[in-house]
Amino acid sequence: MTDLQDILQQIRDFIQESVIPLEAQFLKAGFSAVRPQALTLRQQVKEMGLWAPHLPPEMGGLGLSLHEFAHLSEVLGTSPLGHWVFNCQAPDIGNMEILHLHGTAAQKERYLAPLVRGEIHSCFAMTEPEHAGSNPVWMSTTAVRDGGSYVINGHKWFTTAADGAAFAVVMAITDPEAARHRRASMFLVPTDTPGYEHVRRIPIMGEEGEDYLSHSELRFHDCRVPRSALLGQEGDGFVIAQQRLGPGRIHHTMRWIGISQRALEMMCQYAAQRELAPGEPLARKQTVQNWIAESQAEIQAARLLVLDAAAKIDARGSKAARVEISQIKFFVAGVLNRVLDRAIQVHGGYGLTDYTLLSFWFRHERGARIYDGPDEVHKSVVARHLLRPYGVRI
Ligand SMILES: Cc1cc2nc3c(=O)[nH]c(=O)nc-3n(C[C@H](O)[C@H](O)[C@H](O)COP(=O)(O)OP(=O)(O)OC[C@H]3O[C@@H](n4cnc5c(N)ncnc54)[C@H](O)[C@@H]3O)c2cc1C
Repeated sequence: MTDLQDILQQIRDFIQESVIPLEAQFLKAGFSAVRPQALTLRQQVKEMGLWAPHLPPEMGGLGLSLHEFAHLSEVLGTSPLGHWVFNCQAPDIGNMEILHLHGTAAQKERYLAPLVRGEIHSCFAMTEPEHAGSNPVWMSTTAVRDGGSYVINGHKWFTTAADGAAFAVVMAITDPEAARHRRASMFLVPTDTPGYEHVRRIPIMGEEGEDYLSHSELRFHDCRVPRSALLGQEGDGFVIAQQRLGPGRIHHTMRWIGISQRALEMMCQYAAQRELAPGEPLARKQTVQNWIAESQAEIQAARLLVLDAAAKIDARGSKAARVEISQIKFFVAGVLNRVLDRAIQVHGGYGLTDYTLLSFWFRHERGARIYDGPDEVHKSVVARHLLRPYGVRI
């Protein structure tokens, strides 16, 4: 644990001294404007031995448990560039995990190795505009066997980071007659494969975004990939997706706690310095004090809930922690959105400008209550579990 505390302090210092100074330019001109400096920081992170910290040591990572990595994810989440600079940003982190667990030696060499080195980025295409993403077993994209190939046809959207991605992990139906959770499989599709179309980056809350901070619409037109593009076995798609989502929700929720913590600190700082009249700071107002105290309590409660869920996943696996995972997903998303809203309110009109991170996060993180399963789906998982002993089957 002492080691972990040392690592956390090292990362806190690095974020403060090297990453946060890039934020003003990032907010003004977007990710591409700071990419060259961010690449230099990536090199420094490698030299510090903190690169891709989620990975096992044999892959160059720190070999942390999920509970330990959760602490890092909070610190990295305090800056929108934190996870990227350390090469543990979504969706690459999840794709690295499933490739590590299910990839063949050839798949690991072709996709995982350059991903780990930070030479390429990837995306994960599951959700389709024509079907409710909340019911992930319902999809139309198909992969039909044809000799030594699969031919993929379909339509996806909200594929995060497809812009500039080298390959996509694509969920497609391989056996429509199979049991619901055995119908789909995952494929590794290089984005230069004929028939792969990047249609557009979807404008969200007034912003198309770019690179890993964007969400795209994709089409597959007779997109032919070799049999070796199959990840795991045919029909394994949902099993692998579930494995990806368990730890993924720890990563996201701890990142949200990092954001909430930074927003709280911004709230305190602004309340202390903004004067309503000479010598009368905003912080003297009880309403503002209430927002600060409520945010502090909610963030700490959220942090402890996530760490508890992470410890349970470490000890017993994602399946056993299903209720805890759903609980943190909607609870922390709610905390994040409330804290950001309060922080903006405290900043007044300034909070709406793009001169602080608050409006960026407000735009980008409203989705927290929707992606990886909307709040309502996760609440029903928790309620179903609690109601079962009372004879209610939902
Ligand atoms: C920022 C962002 C990034 C994303 N990144 C990716 C990605 O990289 N790859 C990918 O494949 N997908 C991605 N998604 C898609 C995401 O997973 C889906 O948006 C999500 O699963 C919800 O599906 P949907 O949008 O089709 O909403 P729907 O399923 O149509 O649901 C609409 C609304 O109905 C309500 N609802 C749904 N189910 C229930 C229920 N059981 N009970 C009560 N109410 C319910 C909820 O309020 C929900 O918001 C992303 C989405 C966002 C917003």
